[in-house]
Amino acid sequence: MKIPFSPPDITEREIQAVVEVLRSGWITTGPKTALFEEKIASYCQTEKAICLNSATAGLELVLRLFEIGEGDEVITTPYTFAATANVILHCGAKPIFADINQNDFNISLSEIEKKINPKTKAIIPVDFAGLPCDYDGILTLVKEKQSLFVPKKNTLQENLGRILVLADAAHSFGSLYKKRKSGSLADFTVFSFHAVKNLTTAEGGAITFSSFGDVSADSLYKKLKLLSLHGQSKTAIEKIKPGNWHYTIDLAGYKYNMTDIAAAIGLVQLERFDPEITPKRKKVADFYSQNISEKDFILPILNDQTRQTNYHLYPLRVRIAEKRDSLIQKLAEAEIAANVHFIPLPMHPLYKNLGYRIEDYPNTLFCFEREISLPIHSFLEEEKLAYIVEKLQT
Ligand SMILES: *Cc1c(COP(=O)(O)O)cnc(C)c1O
Repeated sequence: MKIPFSPPDITEREIQAVVEVLRSGWITTGPKTALFEEKIASYCQTEKAICLNSATAGLELVLRLFEIGEGDEVITTPYTFAATANVILHCGAKPIFADINQNDFNISLSEIEKKINPKTKAIIPVDFAGLPCDYDGILTLVKEKQSLFVPKKNTLQENLGRILVLADAAHSFGSLYKKRKSGSLADFTVFSFHAVKNLTTAEGGAITFSSFGDVSADSLYKKLKLLSLHGQSKTAIEKIKPGNWHYTIDLAGYKYNMTDIAAAIGLVQLERFDPEITPKRKKVADFYSQNISEKDFILPILNDQTRQTNYHLYPLRVRIAEKRDSLIQKLAEAEIAANVHFIPLPMHPLYKNLGYRIEDYPNTLFCFEREISLPIHSFLEEEKLAYIVEKLQT
């Protein structure tokens, strides 16, 4: 029985939506993207959303918007995908890693506190596997540390008046924290719609945000639109109106826009998300939690008093670290594709060469050495789940 790790859940509806866009005469950023942005903002209970071609682009754009760069520090977790920290390097700032909690893989509040200093401009928490970080704790902490914050000459930094909290919610679309949706928990939140994520547009991402201080969400949206498409004063669709050819380039923006082909997939995925996609993933996770023995394994937290996952990953851990690799091999021989999330950033050559040492992050190392992400997606019927659990435990 061949079991893939995470194939996308694409139905005839997504295929038809793409065909419609292809036949419509408008395939790049346009009405579908605008509609998808409105639906995301409304789903996430935020004032605004902007769609982009990836989460990586979204994380970078928010750092650029706040002019975070040379001489600045950004605190994040070492237990994440490279995108989270690479964008800090792209902007010329320094990633500062804060170790994780051993129980939920998320960045530790007390470790963040130790790393805050006058150079700190932002914190990028990552909602590992879909379980939200302690955002109220993080927001309380940055408010307590307000007197340490030294804003650059940037209206947004001055208006916020404290360290920016930028959520990497690549894993957590649809997750809840204190009954509030992921997307509404931090100052800015970035989602990924990459092919392996719960809601996909093949490649894609979005930023959600609301007004703060004297800064309106509309003005933030306009600035992000400029930054995401070459600083062009008019959108492509405005420019093609007869006689409307003139435009200006207002700043050296990037090329990070979403196409209407991608947005069309996303609109269908969003409609199917709560009624179809999440319940299927929940069934898989619940089956694992009910059938895997806690004698040999540490089961992941799927929910607790304040949080509810969207079941993005099922990050199981073996109790005996030495058994992890051979277990993955055994699953592979049974044609079951398991995965490991993540190889901690300080273990990659890029970050090693920058001077980071895994020994400085003991909880990250503890989790990494034991972690096995089991297959989780829409096409795992009970028979397959029983097969996976049997191979895992014999
Ligand atoms: C997938 C992922 C990203 C990057 O998303 P893209 O849309 O591919 O740029 C960032 N952070 C985390 C934690 C991810 O898993």
